[in-house]
Amino acid sequence: MKKQHIQTLAVHAGETKGKNKDIIQPIHLSTTFERNEDGTTGEYIYTRGENPNRIAVEQKLAQIEGAKTAIAFASGMAAINALFDTLLEPNCHIIIPDDCYHGTRQLLDTFFKRWNVTTNRIDMTEATHVEKAIQPNTKLIWIETPSNPQLKITDLEAVISIAKKNNILTVCDNTFATPLAQKTIQNGIDYVMYSSTKFFSGHSDILGGVVLTNKEDELSQSIRTYQKMAGAVPSPFDCWLLNRSLATFPLRFRAQSDNAITIANFLSTHPSIEKVFFPGLASHENHHIAKKQMQNGFGTIVSILVKGNQENALAFTNKLHIFKHATSLGGVESLVEHRRSVEGTNPISPENLIRLSIGIEYIDDLLSDLKQALE
Ligand SMILES: *Cc1c(COP(=O)(O)O)cnc(C)c1O
Repeated sequence: MKKQHIQTLAVHAGETKGKNKDIIQPIHLSTTFERNEDGTTGEYIYTRGENPNRIAVEQKLAQIEGAKTAIAFASGMAAINALFDTLLEPNCHIIIPDDCYHGTRQLLDTFFKRWNVTTNRIDMTEATHVEKAIQPNTKLIWIETPSNPQLKITDLEAVISIAKKNNILTVCDNTFATPLAQKTIQNGIDYVMYSSTKFFSGHSDILGGVVLTNKEDELSQSIRTYQKMAGAVPSPFDCWLLNRSLATFPLRFRAQSDNAITIANFLSTHPSIEKVFFPGLASHENHHIAKKQMQNGFGTIVSILVKGNQENALAFTNKLHIFKHATSLGGVESLVEHRRSVEGTNPISPENLIRLSIGIEYIDDLLSDLKQALE
């Protein structure tokens, strides 16, 4: 069959033909499946190992990404932990971006410190910084582009080529770009991961994570084993909801991206705004790289520095009506967040940084809300 567009795959990939010829796969809540008389098993044995709803959503995710394998987890953090636990080893070294999801940093700083894993946090906006940070025991280069929350851009092609030359594994946390805007597997990344809590779910009602790869070696297969053994698997209902949500993911993401571009442009000329971080703006320091590696939009996250201090930034968030002050991103509803307040003991965000997650609301309503809050 002719290769299908992501918009078609998001609706149909991974469809199963049930006994009743359902158009929508039923939810398989059973934790266990009956054995044959001779003790052998059918396709399913026990739901932690495999479940029809999880297999269906994994197949859809793999096809959307264009990857051979998708391994679903109960959250983005469970996916990150599975990658660290399988790819890292005691006394190794990992390179991560200085601007990086705070949970990723915290996981390394707490649990993997006990393995004596050393971490270098570097500014990856220049690929040469990555090359300089490599040590003899560097096992993994972790990329996050655009990064959370400063929307820094890493040149995927350049960093992947440095990693390959040095025999180092690469992972990209592609949560902000999604497979619609940024192809990572095709660029040669070893593993790509997502918090499916964000754009894939899109309705702020399920947690989830996924690891995707084209590799079929022992190390890659151990991630599947880890999923089944460690057991941080998504429930059948969460898989079913995710599968349903994925159908509209390309449409939602496109609508949100269009809104985000308009909002970034509006804010970049507003006198109460000190700076706008958005890779789609020509003023973004790595706009040329973003343009090269991001198709179909620059994402839906716009971070800003509000003129003044933390008080001014918080006053702005509290004056907004449509944008709700809450953590998370990627949902149909617009959210606003003061990042420094949620980053814990080692915050990386400036005190006047506000992150906006742009939803699918009508653009004029979002613009009016921002205008009145900045007055
Ligand atoms: C939210 C997020 C995560 C963590 O995912 P959870 O589903 O919350 O566990 C990881 N990376 C990025 C970029 C995120 O935005």
